[in-house]
Order: sequence, then C-alpha cells, then structure tokens
Amino acid sequence: MDRQQEFVLRTIEDRDVRFVRLWFTDVTGTLKSVALAPAEVEGAFAEGLGFDGSSIDGYTRIFESDMLLQPDPSTFQILPWRGEDEPTSRMFCDVLTPDGEPSAADPRQVLRRQLSRAADMGFTFYTHPEIEFYLLQSKDPGPDGQPVPVDQAGYFDHEPGGVATDFRRHAVNMLEAIGISVEFSHHESGPGQNEIDLRYADALQTADNIMTFRTVIKEVAQLQGNYATFMPKPFGQHAGSGMHTHFSLFEGDSNAFFEPSAEFHLSTTGRRFIAGLLHHSMEITAITNQFVNSYKRLWGGGEAPSYVSWGHNNRSALVRVPLYKPDKAGSARVEYRGIDASANPYLTYAVLLAAGLKGIEEEYELPEAAAEDISALTSTERRALGHHSLPGTLHDALRIMEDSEFVAEVLGETVFENFLRNKRQEWDEYRVEVTPYELQRNLGIL
Ligand code: GLN
Ligand code: MG
Ligand code: MG
Ligand code: MG
Repeated sequence: MDRQQEFVLRTIEDRDVRFVRLWFTDVTGTLKSVALAPAEVEGAFAEGLGFDGSSIDGYTRIFESDMLLQPDPSTFQILPWRGEDEPTSRMFCDVLTPDGEPSAADPRQVLRRQLSRAADMGFTFYTHPEIEFYLLQSKDPGPDGQPVPVDQAGYFDHEPGGVATDFRRHAVNMLEAIGISVEFSHHESGPGQNEIDLRYADALQTADNIMTFRTVIKEVAQLQGNYATFMPKPFGQHAGSGMHTHFSLFEGDSNAFFEPSAEFHLSTTGRRFIAGLLHHSMEITAITNQFVNSYKRLWGGGEAPSYVSWGHNNRSALVRVPLYKPDKAGSARVEYRGIDASANPYLTYAVLLAAGLKGIEEEYELPEAAAEDISALTSTERRALGHHSLPGTLHDALRIMEDSEFVAEVLGETVFENFLRNKRQEWDEYRVEVTPYELQRNLGIL
C-alpha cells in the first residue's frame, strides 16, 4: 500500500467517514457512482472493486461486462454538501479489465494516454476552463414551454441580494471546500446565466474537477430550490453555455508557448500547437460538441464560434490568444472556444491535446490570424481567407469524425465505436421529431 492510500484509510478512520463513493464516467461523460462501505476500501485499493459494466453506456460489450474500479487515492475528498453527521467522501476511479489492464472503454484512460504522450515529448499540459451554465427556477418549463431563469440580469451585472449572487457565493465556497480553486465568477450575458472559471491545473485533474463541478453546481442549486443546467443552448434567443478552455504546455518550469520577441509573444511551439487545433477542429467537433443541441449554440450567435479561425483578440474566432503581460511569461496560453458546457472533459481534452501535439510533431504552418469579425464576412470572403465552417449539425460532425483516422487513434477503437453508436442513435431519434417550429411554420399554411 502506498502513502496516499494509507492517508485515505487514516482519514476515513479519523473523520469517521460512513460512505466512500467511487466515481467514473460513461462515454458521454455522465458521472457514475457506487457507494462503498469504509471497511471495503482497503480491498478496493489492493484488488479493485468488481462491477458489472454491461448496462453502463460505452462499457456494454457483454464479454467485457466484468470490470474493476481502481480508486485513485489522490482524488479523495469529503463531500461538503453531505454535512458533518455521516461524512461521505469520493474518489475517482480508473476502470480496469478483470486481468488488471486499463479498460479500453474508460474515458479517463483515453486522456491518460495522451498525457503520457505529452510527457514523452517533455511537456506538462495545463488547462483552465471557463464554465458557463444557466440557473433556472426549476427543471420544468414555464407556461410558454420555455425554461424559466432565476433573474433577468446580464453580463457582469451585480444584483445586490440577487439569487445568482448568493448562489455563486455558496457554490464557490463549496468548490473550495472540496479542493477546487476558483479564479473568477460572474453573471454571464443570458438571464440566469453564470460563469465560474477554475484555476489552471493539469488536464486530468481539471477533467476530474469539471465532473465534480457539475455535481456541486447542481447540488447547490437544489439546496436553494433552483435548478442548474449545462445544456449548451437552453434558450434560442440567448447565448449558449460554453466551456472555453485555456491551454498551455510547460517544459519543466518554462512555458513552451512563450517567446518574448515573437508576434503575440507566441513561440513556434505555440504556433504549431494552434495550427494543430485548427487543422483537426472539424474532426473533433463531435467530441467537443456532442449533442444535437450543441449545434444550436455553435450556429446561434451569442459569441459562440462558427468558423475555423484564430485571432489575437477576436471573439468570433475558434482559437484565441489572450492578451497577457509580456513580463508574465508563465501565462502565455491559447484559448479554445468551441467546447460547450456539457462535453465529456476527458475525451475533449484528449483530442485537443492530441491535435496540438500533432501540429508540433508535424510542424504544421499556422495560417494568418483573422482580423475581422468572421461572421460579418460574406461566405465568398470567408472561403477566400480559408475560414471553413464548423459542422452545422451533429449529423455533419459525426460524418466527419467517422472518417477520421486521427480521432480513431486518439480515442482507441472501443471508445470511438461506442461514442459513434451512442451519438448516431441520438441523431436518428432527433431527425424524426416534428418540432414546434415546424408546426408553427407549416401547419397554418400547408
Ligand atoms: N457564451 C458564449 C459561448 O457560448 C461565450 C461568451 C463569452 O464568454 N465571451 O461560447
Ligand atoms: Mg470568461
Ligand atoms: Mg463567458
Ligand atoms: Mg473565454
């Protein structure tokens, strides 16, 4: 038993922890949880905890139905919202096959593989997500069929005594209590829409933090009698919820994206990383934007990117190089703005990291930065400048992904196929739906 495992066992004893929840995710990034009695934890460390994966999405192949959960002791935390009476804790798990090999179906493993590739190239991959979500009065829509937000405030509004202000205070306290550092929080542009930005951390920790974040936000909303949603586009007429993420690669203590004398202080490594993101952006859109609804965000305005482009301070661009002080070499970074708030963070960071590393390895050339508001150009102008459209629907995104050897290799065959199967099914269900839009548009006149 290693020191971290001993620490967990000691804490369980000292704090009289009654339940230990083991967390992992399915192929779309839904959190799965099994509660373990404290006495079983030592055995789970030694041998893993057996479970039947056959009814969990993405683990469905019958001959692989016996799986093991291997708790990661570095992720042990007491869940603050469960109260002090019967303390409940959680650990994230790696999923193993019965012979102790990493499971090919586990999204956490997909990210681990890319992180170790980065490590082989001498890099640590840091990520800083900006997570947007809507706070609604309840899960149920109002009389007009629309969700009901908790307020009518807008971007950076401060509402004294407002529901959202109170909510953010509780949420940030709760996040800090579970070991997640928050950098900023503010009201976003939509009614009831909020953003909370997490402090940068290595990508595996960030992905775990995002899974925890979603749970915490939903719990805190529920404690207040409200409902929080990470749905990419709950309101047609208001901005969607993105999960822009800032990336940097470090070589030891030094930021590999920083070059003081270069344009935008961006090193050749940084330029190639961005070129990789752009080059592969169409193939990976099904991963960064995995729901039918995701495409209503990408194409519905509200500062969501619709075209493949990069810019320095250009909010219609897919990739942005934020302004930072040149004396702050450490903060050199690139922001990917395509991701939405309900993406599977493990798969998303794995494909984005792989795209950037490929750009570095293959020495991709970075095209010119886009100066204009790309969505204001005509389609001819856009084509001339090489700004391709991101996929317009989940169907388009899946067609491109299906043909991508790059994505197949990064995800591995099992996750690749499970993901496509799940998403094809979603599209097939959606495409036969008759929507209120069609009834309103057609029924009266046709
Ligand atoms: N909500 C926008 C999006 O979906 C982002 C708005 C912003 O933070 N500038 O991407
Ligand atoms: Mg922001
Ligand atoms: Mg924002
Ligand atoms: Mg941003």
